[in-house]
Amino acid sequence: MSSMLPMVQPRSGMPERVTIYEVGPRDGLQNESTRVPTEVKAEFVRRLVAAGLDTVELTSFVPQRWVPQLGDAEELVAALGPVGVGRQRPVLVPNERGLERALEAGVSAVAVFGSATETFARKNLNRSVAESVDMFAPVVSRALDAGAWVRAYVSMCFGDPWEGPVPVEQVVDVCARLMDLGCDQLSVGDTIGVGTPGHVERLLDALEEVGIGVDQVGVHFHDTYGQALSNTVTALGRGVSVVDASAGGLGGCPYARSATGNLATEDLVWTLTGLGVEHGVDLDTLVETSGWMAGHLGRPSPSRVVRALSG
Ligand code: MG
Repeated sequence: MSSMLPMVQPRSGMPERVTIYEVGPRDGLQNESTRVPTEVKAEFVRRLVAAGLDTVELTSFVPQRWVPQLGDAEELVAALGPVGVGRQRPVLVPNERGLERALEAGVSAVAVFGSATETFARKNLNRSVAESVDMFAPVVSRALDAGAWVRAYVSMCFGDPWEGPVPVEQVVDVCARLMDLGCDQLSVGDTIGVGTPGHVERLLDALEEVGIGVDQVGVHFHDTYGQALSNTVTALGRGVSVVDASAGGLGGCPYARSATGNLATEDLVWTLTGLGVEHGVDLDTLVETSGWMAGHLGRPSPSRVVRALSG
């Protein structure tokens, strides 16, 4: 397809390089009702890596009954062979059992998934926020003891579909409790996509005030209200250099009415390319991959860039 690219025009205050933390195979596929065969998932990961995405979150070691789509975690890691191991192939682990399974499979990077709000902690983890931190504590310490890299996701950082606005202090408190466990990286999630740039700056400042510097923070924005890229550029301007994105924009948020969820990796790559920020991704190869995956899922990608370049 077309090799249209933006004109490169650097802007001051941007990082030299951004690490794209690709979440498509996990966050993107987890809510898909059509069961994707393990070999297709493995091919998806291989293609993403071939497109230049260094960091790809593979799957989640959740019990199969929770997320049937990701019930093949062991099989996927095995199918990937050498492509599936290393610190740039994290997996989600919901609890100690999940961690055990991941470590047995040869995984060396894991992520836990916390919530900034009580309602979502109850709905997603069946626990209060405090109880969920207690549950993650042994997971994180055992992972670190095993030499694994650990990421802490915090969802609902900019708003909650049941509680509405979420106070920044409350978000920072949850983030600090998780980072105090010894996690290597924090990913602040705008799960319903309601955040705006000033809010992003306020949260990053508040995190810095409690000692969580931008070098430890990744941002996970959703495009539900069309804010993901402006929020991303704002975060980059504050020194963040890890951005979560999902190839083709896979992964609608099940808690928001709109189907538009994760920031599409292609849309992010377009912006970074235009800004002259290094990212290592070949856009055409990535667009082709998302088109291929959309074919397996039976519907078009919601990514603007994928649509523009496939039109
Ligand atoms: Mg997401």
